[in-house]
Amino acid sequence: MQAEEDRRRKDCLTPTLSASQVLLLNASYEPMQIISWQKALILWCQNKVDIVDYHNVFARSVRSSFQIPSILRLKHYVKPRSLGAIRFCRENVFMRDNYTCQYCGDRHSPRHLTLDHIIPASKKGPKSWTNMVTACRDCNQRKANRTPQTANMPLLKEPTIPTWLPRPEMDVNNNQVPIAWLPYLPLKIS
Ligand SMILES: [Zn+2]
Repeated sequence: MQAEEDRRRKDCLTPTLSASQVLLLNASYEPMQIISWQKALILWCQNKVDIVDYHNVFARSVRSSFQIPSILRLKHYVKPRSLGAIRFCRENVFMRDNYTCQYCGDRHSPRHLTLDHIIPASKKGPKSWTNMVTACRDCNQRKANRTPQTANMPLLKEPTIPTWLPRPEMDVNNNQVPIAWLPYLPLKIS
């Protein structure tokens, strides 16, 4: 069924726009995601968004053509990641801890971070939001099979169960960002 729908969409629109991406803003104008122009058209057809700006590009079907939006804004505010319980997983623990080692306070990219059991697994410490923290490799190794107390490595803060997570930083490259997007993006662009 989905394949059938996809095929129909392909028949309908020329696929020459695969590079066009659309910035999706929350109702509050905060950037949320970069989405494909196909997803943008779906959201627009569902009446969920207003179009803020356009690309100078058109998608053509047999009967008509659509100017591809460059920026969309949700009609209703969506609290970032507030829907339902937040899944316990490595990436989400890193995000809760702001990619910061909870022992030394250094910030690292995910591939240089580890998950540390506060009460070690060997001492029956559970794999849970309140027993797992982000740790750099060095601290994880130094702490080894000990509690923070016995290792004399106090935590920066008590870990909690998050009720929401910030959106992951959007992967945007400065040279490829349409000028129209710039007022909406955080200054930190790689
Ligand atoms: Zn560390």
